[in-house]
Amino acid sequence: MEDPGPAGRQTRKNVVAVVGGGLVGALNACFFAKRGFHVEVFETREDIRTAKTVRGRSINLALSLRGRQALKHVGLEDKIVSKGIPMNARMIHSLSGKQSPIPYGRKGQYILSVDRANLNKELLTEAETYPNTKLNFDHKLQDWSSETGLMTFVRSDGSRSQVQADLIVGCDGAFSAVRKQFLRRSRFNYSQTYIPHGYKELTMPPRDGEFAMKPNFLHIWPRNTFMMIALPNMDKTFTCTLFMPFEDFEKITTGDEVIEFFRKHFPDAIPLIGADALRTDYFRLPAQAMVSVKCSPYHIQDRCVLMGDAAHAVVPFYGQGMNAGFEDCIVFDDIMNQFNEDFSSVLPEYSRVRVPDDHAIADLAMYNYVEMRAHVNSKWFLFRKRVDNLLHFLMPKTIIPLYTMVTFTRTRYHEAVQRWHWQQKVINLGLLLGAVGAAAGGSYLLVKNPPNINRILVHAEHIRSKLVSLKTS
Ligand SMILES: Cc1cc2nc3c(=O)[nH]c(=O)nc-3n(C[C@H](O)[C@H](O)[C@H](O)COP(=O)(O)OP(=O)(O)OC[C@H]3O[C@@H](n4cnc5c(N)ncnc54)[C@H](O)[C@@H]3O)c2cc1C
Repeated sequence: MEDPGPAGRQTRKNVVAVVGGGLVGALNACFFAKRGFHVEVFETREDIRTAKTVRGRSINLALSLRGRQALKHVGLEDKIVSKGIPMNARMIHSLSGKQSPIPYGRKGQYILSVDRANLNKELLTEAETYPNTKLNFDHKLQDWSSETGLMTFVRSDGSRSQVQADLIVGCDGAFSAVRKQFLRRSRFNYSQTYIPHGYKELTMPPRDGEFAMKPNFLHIWPRNTFMMIALPNMDKTFTCTLFMPFEDFEKITTGDEVIEFFRKHFPDAIPLIGADALRTDYFRLPAQAMVSVKCSPYHIQDRCVLMGDAAHAVVPFYGQGMNAGFEDCIVFDDIMNQFNEDFSSVLPEYSRVRVPDDHAIADLAMYNYVEMRAHVNSKWFLFRKRVDNLLHFLMPKTIIPLYTMVTFTRTRYHEAVQRWHWQQKVINLGLLLGAVGAAAGGSYLLVKNPPNINRILVHAEHIRSKLVSLKTS
């Protein structure tokens, strides 16, 4: 017989254990609590709301539509948006210091720079407002049984506890302990790729109490094989992230070498960050690695499911890792409605629906890894972006730029990719036909109205004599 859930309603599974109280785990706790499950969150770190030092993976993050929609489900969208800074465009910094904006989408479309720690704190506080949710900090999952669902946790004082749950939701990040059990099973596909680049974060302080650069932009210094980006914070600082191959990071070993490197590649950033700060901040932490993880399926029977980075860690170049993780929560929630919370149907359906989308965003993030640091320097790329935007303006339903689909809509990621390939073919063919047409038209006009060859020769002679006189003067 089924037991009534904590909210007095019938549930097939009563205790949902969310492993990981990071961004996706804390949000997921709210989704399950809203449904009336008894939710236990287990987080290895101490409570970041009271901890003295908080070490996250990046200081700020770009929040876009998918993430916002998920926050809306739990009533947090407005609160988080009010503490974010809109970024309407990329601002490209050339070597000479020239700044050129490339809008993200149509007028009024923007992504938001939000503080990671604050977002995590708000989500934990929201989860705690549900009486059927308990947050257990300083609980590190050591092992669990996929047969019984029994989990073993260790605490920092070395003590252990065992907890039984009906459903385990693995939201414990890219190096998931929950996922380890999946690896022991047959027909589980898994791959992980470390990219050759690492990243370092640096702070650009305010100038005379104001932002040192225009705040409503994601600033990019693309330098082909490496790049720096900067996102604004509410305290008027910018967090700059330098992405570079590890071997290049390792070549820089002294403060003077940092300044020399910046003078060569990011000269306009030196006075903004400050030479003294650069010399020291650069060495505060070693460069961090970035990994892309793909796996499938995301579930084991009706007992366990992976979400967020535990299921799909992606490199950060599309600004979609967290957004995709937040969208996981909505997709799972929708499937729960569809299958009346029957986990034996919900979990396989979730894997079936979500795997192709998460794999697509992992691939797109890898693609953007090159686009952001190299393609944005190419004239053809900038021309194509303008063509895409113009066509989108003229035919908003037919041609939608890839970035717009990914960032400003909830088009399924894999469908966005398919549509993008189709659009690329059509637009490139259109441009080719246009070019051929223009060449044919030009030739026809030349044949019909041949130019006066004598006048051209006179002009050429005039130019030649000018050049000669310039050379000899
Ligand atoms: C430099 C950088 C920039 C990024 N920028 C963006 C961006 O602009 N936009 C965007 O959408 N995404 C961005 N991302 C990606 C984003 O950070 C991740 O996708 C997001 O943090 C995933 O959330 P998560 O909760 O799944 O995992 P995590 O944030 O990693 O949280 C996992 C939690 O599980 C806990 N945990 C781990 N192991 C255990 C265990 N054994 N037992 C219990 N708890 C455990 C951890 O302490 C942690 O709190 C960026 C990533 C990086 C590295």
